[in-house]
Amino acid sequence: MASEFVKVTDKIYFFSGEQETDRPFLYYIKGRDYSVAIDAGQSKEHVEQFYSAIQKEGFEVPKYTIITHWHWDHTFGLPYIQGKSISSQLTQQQLEVVSNWKWTGKDMEQRVKDGTDIEFVNECIQKVYSDLSMIKVLTTDMVVNDNMKLDLGDIQLELYERDSIHSRDALLVYIPQEKALFVGDADCEDLYNNGEVKLSRLKTYREFVNKFEFERYFIGHDFPDNKECVNNYLDELEKNALA
Ligand SMILES: [Zn+2]
Repeated sequence: MASEFVKVTDKIYFFSGEQETDRPFLYYIKGRDYSVAIDAGQSKEHVEQFYSAIQKEGFEVPKYTIITHWHWDHTFGLPYIQGKSISSQLTQQQLEVVSNWKWTGKDMEQRVKDGTDIEFVNECIQKVYSDLSMIKVLTTDMVVNDNMKLDLGDIQLELYERDSIHSRDALLVYIPQEKALFVGDADCEDLYNNGEVKLSRLKTYREFVNKFEFERYFIGHDFPDNKECVNNYLDELEKNALA
């Protein structure tokens, strides 16, 4: 199914993902003074489709792109965005590492063997990039030191650098006026650690998230949830979590 640009509120829009290539949802936050995107997507094509959907609505392209975590599907679009990118410090450090990786079938296989990367990622990358030499990895322009605020004129964004269940480098975005929380893949299993869910990380994450008054919870690979759904989901996750 092709990605669609969907209005959630006057301020929040999403560009839907696709399961086939693990394409994530991208978000567009429309402010009075400027607008912001959440995540850069998988590729040049992904960014171009997102921007063309934004412009079709008569909206400005984002001034900032906030990166939720370092995984390829959220960051390989970085060379093609306009404006500046923002991430956690850990995301920037990891992107620096990934920018030195070589992209041939052989190199990718080797990284799976030595545990630096995972098979699922390689399969999806190969679906998106028929020519692997087209892959470019950039680091971000700005980093968040614990937390940061962005004032879009009529709404304010709060950015928080935190550990998550899914990766160590998560950056969460909260918009108080919209009671909206954006978490990327933060509440999914850690695919780089055998898909495990660590109870301690889950509890820390839950405590942090539940401090916010939110009614809308936006995730990396599915449609938005509400607080009750999130807590039901986290309850289930907790039952199978590793001590
Ligand atoms: Zn991820």
